[in-house]
Amino acid sequence: MRRLTGAILAVAVAAVGPNTLADDLLGFDAAGSAAQRSLEAEFDTHLSAEDMDTWIRQMSAKPHHVGSAAGREVVDLAAELLESWGYDVDIAEYEILLPTPKTRELELVAPTRFAAGLDEDTLAEDASTSVRDDLLPPYNAFSIDGEVEGELVFVNYGIPEDYEILERHGIDVTGKIAIAKYGRSWRGIKPKLAGEKGAIATIIYSDPGDDGYAAGDAYPKGPFKHESGVQRGSVMDMPTYPGDVLTPGTGATKRARRLDIDDAPTLTKIPVLPISARDALPLLAAMDGAVVPAEWRGALPITYHLGPGPARVRMKLEFDWERVMAYNVIARLEGSEFPDEWVVRGNHHDGWNHGAADPISGLAALLSEARSVAQLARTGNRPKRTIVYAGWDAEEPGLIGSTEWAEHHARDLQRHAVAYLNTDGNSRGFVNIGGSHTLERFFNQVIEDVNDPKADISLKDRRRARLRLNASNDKARAEAERRDLRISPLGSGSDYTPFLQHLGIASANLSFGGEGNGGSYHTLYDTYEHFTTWRDPGLVYGVSLAQVAGRATLRLANAPRLPFEFQGFADNIALYVEELEELAETMRKDSELTNQRLDDGTYAAALNPYETLGPPPRKAEVPFFNFAPLRNALDRLQTAADSYADIAASGTPASADVNEMLFTTERLLTREEGLPGRSWYKHHIYAPGFYTGYGVKTLPGIREAIEQREYAMVGEQIEIAAGVLDTLSARIEAIVEEEAER
Ligand SMILES: [Zn+2]
Repeated sequence: MRRLTGAILAVAVAAVGPNTLADDLLGFDAAGSAAQRSLEAEFDTHLSAEDMDTWIRQMSAKPHHVGSAAGREVVDLAAELLESWGYDVDIAEYEILLPTPKTRELELVAPTRFAAGLDEDTLAEDASTSVRDDLLPPYNAFSIDGEVEGELVFVNYGIPEDYEILERHGIDVTGKIAIAKYGRSWRGIKPKLAGEKGAIATIIYSDPGDDGYAAGDAYPKGPFKHESGVQRGSVMDMPTYPGDVLTPGTGATKRARRLDIDDAPTLTKIPVLPISARDALPLLAAMDGAVVPAEWRGALPITYHLGPGPARVRMKLEFDWERVMAYNVIARLEGSEFPDEWVVRGNHHDGWNHGAADPISGLAALLSEARSVAQLARTGNRPKRTIVYAGWDAEEPGLIGSTEWAEHHARDLQRHAVAYLNTDGNSRGFVNIGGSHTLERFFNQVIEDVNDPKADISLKDRRRARLRLNASNDKARAEAERRDLRISPLGSGSDYTPFLQHLGIASANLSFGGEGNGGSYHTLYDTYEHFTTWRDPGLVYGVSLAQVAGRATLRLANAPRLPFEFQGFADNIALYVEELEELAETMRKDSELTNQRLDDGTYAAALNPYETLGPPPRKAEVPFFNFAPLRNALDRLQTAADSYADIAASGTPASADVNEMLFTTERLLTREEGLPGRSWYKHHIYAPGFYTGYGVKTLPGIREAIEQREYAMVGEQIEIAAGVLDTLSARIEAIVEEEAER
């Protein structure tokens, strides 16, 4: 805690140094900042909520998943628009594996009988729900085929700690069918873990306690999940690698070498099917056995039991394992001064169904932004660097379009890409920014300059106000007062993953949210009607998103000195190092305490003899780890970051060499060997968790070795991470030296 506060103070003190004219933009001098800001004011005048409304209406009129006819219509429409505004447009095609369902059967066979409907209701209040040409029914993509019958076990959210509780009840899922609630982890983790524990299939359902009637009024009365709504989604093992399952590491061109489907490691090991609350109710009601722990209860009108059985279920799944074409729209506007430096800005265009929120609300904002940038270019304000606008296909089944393009063009991207900026679905409320911390200061300046469309204060002030209200301890209160609001580290869940974690390109993901919650995600009800009624009426936050992403894109494209800085990065690393030390300490103490209580009979004395909950197993002792190499590397990094701070703040133009040294700093955070057991993931600061899915693990090599109790690996991973940070420090030192020689 003390160390953290110290680090924050250090940042704050450095920031008010004599060279920091409070209002200059990072990367620009005073005159350059003023010119850039007036350009941005003009940029704003070309943004249009009406345009966005038109495009959302058109592009979400029909279900438009990858491979569908309506999907191709969206591609053509986006390409025509971008071309008409003056972009050079290319459709990048990849041939990808996409299983679609042929047979989906689920029935309760004992002690009563019930056949699940596995369908979503058409609603009179929402005309789009009757537009069902090419609609993919509820399914999980990349589940294997299979026909199984077995007893149900209720596994709560199906995450590792849930299985620890089941084991304490003496329940083994071997040979059983696990039924899990959606939530708390990325969905693909649920069948992955259930399969590892021996289950023969997984059913995932949406409990009304999480996003249905118990959370708020259900659709169409309110935005929450209709009782028949089912969340579709991919269950491929994305924490191993995303993208086409047959072509890891290379673009899925026609001629690419492909794995046999049987050898593809990212398919599930057991069949998995998502169902609605309505279909889940009879299954759960037929279960018996111990009553679930209080925290596991959902909001269905039943007593929840763990099982196993007596509910027995038969499930049959068959898929068409076909290859389809994915079409990325790639639109390029050549830079006037530095055409070989690229700012890449993307949003996917494929949806699971109508996809009004996910992804069209984000794509519409991207298009409005691209139109305005083109208009500026036509009137003499062409961006200095090249801007590439991308509409990705096949994001939903597994970030496939973006991953294949990034793999296909890896070498060029590593040489030329300055940064990648991502958006996906939008909503309303507070600005959310996740990304590379070398851009933390940069993004704080962006959100200082954009006002919230409802409250007449900056996006940053509004976000800070909420942090202040929500802060419940000293640490959170200090965070709320930090000069730069922290941006969150990126795990996975959208198209930034291949750019950031595979190629080492500084990336960010931008959205609004927090006030437009609901349950339409990946269901039939993600429609124009739902979106414009509940998520972003009037598309005012769509305009805000275009303002934020557009400013970020234009500043990166025009800054004479690329706006990377390292004090914010170092301060976040300090936080992660501290977290790791605390994690090891907490695990050590918890393990000792558990073992002590086992030895002295506390569990035996306190546990209810009439219930099945038993004591936990003995824990392996947690050794002390030597974090010194990491601490030393952090120290060097902080010194190097401080030595560049004044230069960064000066806004003096950087040479082409220095700009390249700056934008390739993120590459230095990757290693060709990748992370243990998953070499596709090369970034050593940010990764999606192997057992959390989308959730981020910072310093993942070390953190996961500790969490998974692979203690022999911890020391080596500390050395590796320290080495990665040293490489970055050496680069920053070289930049400072280069500047001194000018
Ligand atoms: Zn999406």
